Amino acid sequence: MTNPKSKIQNPKSLVRAIIRRLHPYVPGEQPKIKGLIKLNTNENPYPPSPKVLSAIQAAVDARLRLYPNPTAQALRVELARFHGCAPENILIGNGSDELLALATRAFVEPDLPGGSRVDPRRNTFARHRSTIQYFIPSYSLYPVLAAIHGARTNPVPLDATFALPGLPELHRGRKWDFQAALTFVTTPNAPSGRGYSAPELEALCRAQRGVVVLDEAYVDFASENALKLGLRLPNVLVARTFSKAYSLCFLRVGYFVGPPELIAAVDKIRDSYNVNGLGQIGALATLKERWYYRAQFRKIIATRERLSASLKGLGFEVFPSQTNFILVRPPRFPAKRWLERLRAKKILVRWFSLPEVKDFLRISIGTDAEIDALVKAAEGILGRSQPAFWTEAGSGAPRPFGIVG
Ligand code: PMP
Repeated sequence: MTNPKSKIQNPKSLVRAIIRRLHPYVPGEQPKIKGLIKLNTNENPYPPSPKVLSAIQAAVDARLRLYPNPTAQALRVELARFHGCAPENILIGNGSDELLALATRAFVEPDLPGGSRVDPRRNTFARHRSTIQYFIPSYSLYPVLAAIHGARTNPVPLDATFALPGLPELHRGRKWDFQAALTFVTTPNAPSGRGYSAPELEALCRAQRGVVVLDEAYVDFASENALKLGLRLPNVLVARTFSKAYSLCFLRVGYFVGPPELIAAVDKIRDSYNVNGLGQIGALATLKERWYYRAQFRKIIATRERLSASLKGLGFEVFPSQTNFILVRPPRFPAKRWLERLRAKKILVRWFSLPEVKDFLRISIGTDAEIDALVKAAEGILGRSQPAFWTEAGSGAPRPFGIVG
């Protein structure tokens, strides 16, 4: 309702056009339905180590009234020790998402009218300076960050195997911008799960004239990582997180590893107290419990391989994964219908409407019991959804959806 005394007829008119037009990032559902099996947001199915929980619980006292350490210094120092670098190579963020957003602001010129003195449409250099580049598919947050910042985007499609294109291929394709201000590479890739080797990533980073962020959110489940590139190359930041592998999504702690000059630039523009105190304590305690998490990674990887084999046996196409999720092309029905049918059986997986991945489901690796339930549900859906002559496109064929529980 408009206030008759106010000169503002519509509060929406107060919002910047760029924000009015924005399609925000859509996080995976977090419903609190009893008995729901949640395999949609790549969370670790196992709890943090008991020592991490005790450390966090022990910190819930009168000190909550105090501001936390502004640079999360103890954590920075411990991470530096762990990665064999200096604290100046490390920056802690409120989850790695915050750092990805800060990188757009630190390294990319907005392409807005009046935002640059040179008209970017007429100036190639300015165009590169306003470009955020990423592969398709990869983390769906990147285009949203670009849209918020008013940056140009250069989405470059991966082939059907989701392999990282080599330099000759990128040159040949002519779409890749070797001078883009900022390039995001999700490695291992999400949502495909495909892993990339350090040498191929290094070749790509060396060929870029702008900043490259290697987003290693899932790297603890991979056979290889590229952290050393953040310590060797002048234009590379490696993003890591305590969310996925270390069961701390709730506390929001991520970090960048990279050259002190780039780290200092991002550090300048972050909020003073960007990382909450309990998060700092939880992450610090986590670093002392690496053995506990390593055992979990082995377990999750074993479950991943077992699930992949079971689903292949049911006719799913399963892509090899180096992460704690798998991308599958389900048989017989469109992926979106599988999403709905599994949901009806209280199992939540992720489906993306993006044309490149709309035929797939992304399934996070749960506990063995959760994965058994998923396989059983898939068997039920396939078994009961006979007859085999039925096809999604078949016009007059009976639709079995309604009868599947
Ligand atoms: N990168 C990728 C590829 C992700 O999937 C996620 C989680 N959605 C993140 C970064 C961000 O993780 P967080 O902010 O929890 O550290």
